[in-house]
Amino acid sequence: MSARIITAFSSRLTIDTGAIRANYRSLARHVAPAECGAVIKADAYGLGARVAAPALHAEGCRTFFVAQLREAFDVADTLGADAAIAILNGLDPGCEAACAEAGFLPVLNAPGQVERWRRLARAKGTALPAVLQVDSGMSRLGLDAAAAAALAADPAFPREVALRFVMTHLACADAPGHAANAGQLARFQAIRALFPEARASIANSGGAFLSPAYHCDLVRPGIALFGVQPSPDGPAMRPVVRLEARILQIREVEAGSGVGYGLDHVAPTRQRLATLGIGYADGWPRSLGGAGAAWHAGARLPIVGRVSMDSLTVDLSALAPDALSEGDFVALLGPCQSLADVARDAGTIPYEILTRLGSRSERTFVETVQ
Ligand SMILES: *Cc1c(COP(=O)(O)O)cnc(C)c1O
Repeated sequence: MSARIITAFSSRLTIDTGAIRANYRSLARHVAPAECGAVIKADAYGLGARVAAPALHAEGCRTFFVAQLREAFDVADTLGADAAIAILNGLDPGCEAACAEAGFLPVLNAPGQVERWRRLARAKGTALPAVLQVDSGMSRLGLDAAAAAALAADPAFPREVALRFVMTHLACADAPGHAANAGQLARFQAIRALFPEARASIANSGGAFLSPAYHCDLVRPGIALFGVQPSPDGPAMRPVVRLEARILQIREVEAGSGVGYGLDHVAPTRQRLATLGIGYADGWPRSLGGAGAAWHAGARLPIVGRVSMDSLTVDLSALAPDALSEGDFVALLGPCQSLADVARDAGTIPYEILTRLGSRSERTFVETVQ
């Protein structure tokens, strides 16, 4: 008797938690003595926060960041009571009691959020822990300098808010030479000096590879943990994901045959084609039509024609006719092709490619040790 392993998915995403852990260790070493936190918003950039978060906790990570309160609830039970979870998008109206009860740290981004947190603290008769975000030039989230100064001058503020740290976010951290970085650092240092008791945090992954001045007390990497080089000057991180898609059908078409929606591709000669079970509904960008590729055994298999919702077609001409059969898997991400390669071909950034994957693929976690 032979057992046959079947998979009910047309594509599979393999996530290496050993690589996530190794990336955390190397970031933590690089930013020491600053603390290294971890940003696990958007389900750990699409990879699975319920697996990534405890793996990072096992490496010593104790400060986690999500974007939404919902995401904090989704992951909290996978972490020890010694871990803090901060909510980057802030404190939504009506969520104050739930946030306080769960022990999450709201990132207070606007005066109204500060006021609502203080009101709850007064009602409870105790200071409530929080993070304060100030805007140092990105104009996205955070108090302006005047609002921060008003808080710092208010003697009641420290009785109501136990400020864990003051943070800001860099607009151009992935461009180390950009003059805006130094400007943001200077503005942030001026504001954070108003809160001498609180710790400070400015750097995301890119910021971690600017000068050590950007490390402050706590660094907040996300994308680098998940295997993407954070900036041109940054080190290569260990790749975390591999993506493969199944061959649904192989066919030979005559010269002049049109392929896919709109018949955008017309075979220039007789062509051997494979239709793969992955499309834009799986997060594989439609903009890769006629631009991207799959890979097999070192051979590049160009995508021909448009990417459909559930499938796309590649040219197998680079391979021997018997190299692949229907049901086989070919590679889309891995040693052959990085997230950065795909992002470049798709005209976007690795963040967008990564966060869109995984909702429809079979997700398998492996832990390679290296
Ligand atoms: C997403 C985010 C991060 C992490 O950014 P990466 O570039 O992925 O390292 C850090 N801080 C804030 C405020 C964020 O929104």
